[in-house]
Amino acid sequence: MEIAGLVPNSTVDYPGVLAAVLFASGCNMDCFYCHNRKLINKTSELIAEDAVFAFLQKRKELLDGVVISGGEPTIQKDLVTFIEKIKNLGYKVKLDTNGSEPTTTRKLLTDSLLDYVAIDYKAPWRRYREICRYVETENVQQTLEILKNSKINWEARTTMLPHITREEYIEMAKGIFTLPKYVINQYRIPKVFLATDKPKMEVKPYSKDFLLQMEKEISVFQPNVTLCGV
Ligand code: SF4
Repeated sequence: MEIAGLVPNSTVDYPGVLAAVLFASGCNMDCFYCHNRKLINKTSELIAEDAVFAFLQKRKELLDGVVISGGEPTIQKDLVTFIEKIKNLGYKVKLDTNGSEPTTTRKLLTDSLLDYVAIDYKAPWRRYREICRYVETENVQQTLEILKNSKINWEARTTMLPHITREEYIEMAKGIFTLPKYVINQYRIPKVFLATDKPKMEVKPYSKDFLLQMEKEISVFQPNVTLCGV
């Protein structure tokens, strides 16, 4: 497993669980607002898997969980065996995913290797490619269905891009089954971006008041919505 970063402990990445966060190298999308561009480009130095497991072994008594984030963890071939090893140490595992690999997510769930999943619901389906460049939206829809039919706790999350309109956010909220938890996050302009995306960086993030209003309007269709990061 290619791991490009490790946060030793976090109280904010796994709801209610003190967890280490691992960042998988590489991603199969290329969202213009990505804050982990080094991970997409695979330019970060990797941490040896042995060092990751030595760390997790040592922290067993202090931490309760491990978050596998990225990048996109599900594109790595050995993710299943990697998580198996983490579970064998007694940790709870949360997966952060863009939802592009339903087969891997299904396998992880079938093998009871996940305790929590956060999946991105990035844009109205017809605008997904414009935002993330490489994506088969059917795959993301399939992963959402798999999660809907699973027994674990999970959440969907949307970064509130100012490039998407109020009406489109309502359309997104209406256009999906009731999510068990729907986290909407403030957008921050990334420090590093592609030169071709410069015009997008000139669009100011939505105000806190606008986002609070959006939370209220979205809650009509998605009662489990919660606004974060403002
Ligand atoms: S899916 Fe996540 S890691 Fe991948 S490009 Fe988009 S924001 Fe970055």
